[in-house]
Amino acid sequence: MENVLRIGISDMTEMSEINELGINENLNLRYCSDIIYTYTGSILIAVNPYKPINIFNKEYVKKYHGCNFGVLEPHVFALAEAAYKSIVDDQVNQSCVISGESGAGKTETTKLILQYLCSITSNVSSWVQQQILEANTILEAFGNAKTIRNDNSSRFGKFMQVCFDEINCIKGCIIQDYLLEKSRITFQSDGERNYHVMYQLVAHGQTNQQMAEDLHLRAPEYFKYLNTSNTEKIDINFESAKFDALTMAFTVLQLQQYSIDGVFKILSSILWLGNIAFEDIDGEGCDFSPADHEAIVIISKLLGLKCSDLQKVLLVRQINVRGNITEIPLKLQEAIENRHAMAKALYSKTFTWLVTKINICTNPGQDGSNFLGVLDIFGFENFTKNSFEQLCINYTNEKLHKFFNHYVFALEQSIYMEEEILFTHVEFTDNSQCLEIIEKPPRCVFKILTEQCHMPKGSDSAYLNNMHSEFEFHPNYIKGSDRRHWESEFGIKHYAGCVIYTVDGFVEKNRDVQQDVLFDYMSRSEDAFVKDLSQYQDQQFIKSQYCSTYSRGSSKTKLTVSDQFRHQLQSLIDVLQNTNPWYVRCIKPNLEKRPNCYNALLVLDQLKYLGIVDIVRIRREGFPIHLNHEEFIIKYKCLMIRKSFANTHNYISDILEIIKVSSSEWQIGKSKVFLRNVAYQLLEDRRKQI
Ligand code: ATP
Ligand code: MG
Repeated sequence: MENVLRIGISDMTEMSEINELGINENLNLRYCSDIIYTYTGSILIAVNPYKPINIFNKEYVKKYHGCNFGVLEPHVFALAEAAYKSIVDDQVNQSCVISGESGAGKTETTKLILQYLCSITSNVSSWVQQQILEANTILEAFGNAKTIRNDNSSRFGKFMQVCFDEINCIKGCIIQDYLLEKSRITFQSDGERNYHVMYQLVAHGQTNQQMAEDLHLRAPEYFKYLNTSNTEKIDINFESAKFDALTMAFTVLQLQQYSIDGVFKILSSILWLGNIAFEDIDGEGCDFSPADHEAIVIISKLLGLKCSDLQKVLLVRQINVRGNITEIPLKLQEAIENRHAMAKALYSKTFTWLVTKINICTNPGQDGSNFLGVLDIFGFENFTKNSFEQLCINYTNEKLHKFFNHYVFALEQSIYMEEEILFTHVEFTDNSQCLEIIEKPPRCVFKILTEQCHMPKGSDSAYLNNMHSEFEFHPNYIKGSDRRHWESEFGIKHYAGCVIYTVDGFVEKNRDVQQDVLFDYMSRSEDAFVKDLSQYQDQQFIKSQYCSTYSRGSSKTKLTVSDQFRHQLQSLIDVLQNTNPWYVRCIKPNLEKRPNCYNALLVLDQLKYLGIVDIVRIRREGFPIHLNHEEFIIKYKCLMIRKSFANTHNYISDILEIIKVSSSEWQIGKSKVFLRNVAYQLLEDRRKQI
């Protein structure tokens, strides 16, 4: 067994030659022996095995718990242990930033980290630990869906801060969610599905007649929103079992029965909304088709609204002109779109409501000590057609890349220079310029978009024209894929490659007009939950010392989607900046979701944009551990017989001589001692022996 475990190089900073080919071969070699983890210094690279591997059981938890980083084979448990240990020993907040493209294994990694933390902090699973794990069941049901890239793709980003008390036990958790993909509620591309929970609910209705009656559920084929794409038939038993797990999770998170029923009523009403077909009246307005009467009655019942009120929100738009409400009939296409918008608004409000409920339940309170934050957020996307969502996603990646660069390269190298130690300068792809074009006021991609959104007649084409004239000569800007597309596209040269965005729908998506009239009617609903939901303010802000101070939409002028998102991301970066970060780079070995299949070309692309070669180089040539002279002496004086000294520099180098390690493994700067892992580990071992 030991032999098998030694296949390839487990820490790539120890490789004799560093290039993409060698790194790729090493990962491939290990992957073929089911070794999915490899280190690059303290950064963990994880290749998705697409099959169960028996290295996550209790034995492994025991093995890694209490063990120093780097001693055992690379593992996500080792990283979680090291982060936890830093909290215990140094009382410093920690974060794990998990990146990789869709299907690379970010969410699975997140769950493994949480599982590990829950297992080591108590022998018996406590209530709060169960709640943290079950929160994921809820979030996955409502926020994950099958896509062509991943059968369980997260369609939102999340940052989970696991909070610890004075004796380093878990005392709660705070979740921040980012940008749920709303379009999926009403439309799915070929081979993709709606959110899991929709199928779970309908499948359960097939096995539970009472529930089907109460919630007016029908067979899955009946609902249009579940059948906008070609996907295989749903497995009733599988989905129904998932539904049971979901209701169990609701109970663990202490949701009251009326809220649970209410959430399901909302979901059912969304499905029924999708089934309404409108009929045109002379191109001026529209009406329901006679067959839709049933749907209208059912939705009204589910939402506790008067039929006439519901009909009004579905068929007319109310405009407020200086205090006078005027009603304008919706034309056919407008009514169709408006109905989709209602479905999306209902779903996203339910989603944020759920996140808030979870947060209230697992809230760690005001007092306490430290947290470990786990970031599981969408990777870089570049499709044949890219829209506003991709721009936000790629912006996130730019932001995180800059943070990563800053931490790994810029900060590190500036310290070396300041401290006047010898090192080889490592070049890295600095993406500051790309970030500036997207987010830096006064003129940037997001500001110009928001400007259009605030104009009554703002349009996608005007937005594009403004962008073209503003950025024509910007090195990160492209006017379109070619001259023919200059009227509909613009491109950005991202650090991970060029992405061409199609501008259709940008203004509307960024405006995100709320369904104020619908929610106003809902606030007078007969159903207690529907009433609660409609009045629930989208201000997900729980007072806690762990939390960054963000709030959603609290300003007087309504923030656009990109503005809100920019603020959220900035708060995230602010939090991360005050933590000790750990990185997991997840890699997807093939596009077919198959085990035992390593597509070297596909991996190569990911190695490039995850910056892995640069990381290997800096980690190898750099010194990850920094200690102040005093700190070093206090910690390791115990290794020396002679306790007094006249010259600090000499005394430190005398201590370092004791461990008999090559002098390339350490350097003494003006105020700090710099160590590579080998030297640090030897010092620690010695210190512990004394
Ligand atoms: P997305 O960005 O689409 O959410 P992701 O990076 O979160 O993708 P995951 O959902 O974590 O990807 O993983 C995709 C699938 O890969 C999982 O459903 C599982 O089948 C498999 N997988 C990932 N990690 C592991 C692992 N450690 N062991 C076994 N299978 C795994
Ligand atoms: Mg995921």
